[in-house]
Amino acid sequence: MNDPALVNYVNPTDVHVVLSRIPENLRARLREVFLSSRSFGVRILGSVRTRGRRDINLYSVLPPRVSLRGYLGKGRDAAEFGAPRQGQWPPWAVRRFLLYDTLLHELGHLQLVRPRGRSWNRRFASETLAKEFATSWRRELYSTSFVHPDPVHNSPTDDELGMLTFWEHLDKAQRLKLVHLVLAAPHQEMPDFSIFEPLDPSCRKFMSTVLGVGGGQISVSS
Ligand SMILES: [Zn+2]
Repeated sequence: MNDPALVNYVNPTDVHVVLSRIPENLRARLREVFLSSRSFGVRILGSVRTRGRRDINLYSVLPPRVSLRGYLGKGRDAAEFGAPRQGQWPPWAVRRFLLYDTLLHELGHLQLVRPRGRSWNRRFASETLAKEFATSWRRELYSTSFVHPDPVHNSPTDDELGMLTFWEHLDKAQRLKLVHLVLAAPHQEMPDFSIFEPLDPSCRKFMSTVLGVGGGQISVSS
């Protein structure tokens, strides 16, 4: 990471989980997803490598204070990702967007829609089709419950949406701390939460879920 102030929202395991949920024929062309540490200051979140059209770049290294509202456009709602309508997005919402929108969108661009098309651009899914691909697959995947300890792999629960009020009341330093804690999950034990108190029971429940406290995602450290 070039700028130590930036944080990485996504890891290879996250990408693997999402892709494993997509039918094999739709990822037949995909060779590799590169988690690029290049940062375009939130202007670009993903792209398809032009050469061969088989690889995806995901620009998941972003500032800790970020809003992806500008990417929503028509027909998509911040709440779908567990984000507030205004202001900084919580880290789990940023992760949900990168994994269940950007990644799926780029996978959409790999779909051959006109195999005999005259030009490279006509053969593959356009911007409109890539958007539709991402939205319809996200909604399809989120329509049933997926057994996974990380809440980003399901649509936001009531506990999570309730947490937004709490998030909005945190100050800059508290949010930064929470971003780092969430991105360092899973944690063996509940981290020191004193700076976030008071926390109501449903927030505490969501926090321990999103921080992966005490297992679920088993990490073996040596
Ligand atoms: Zn696109």
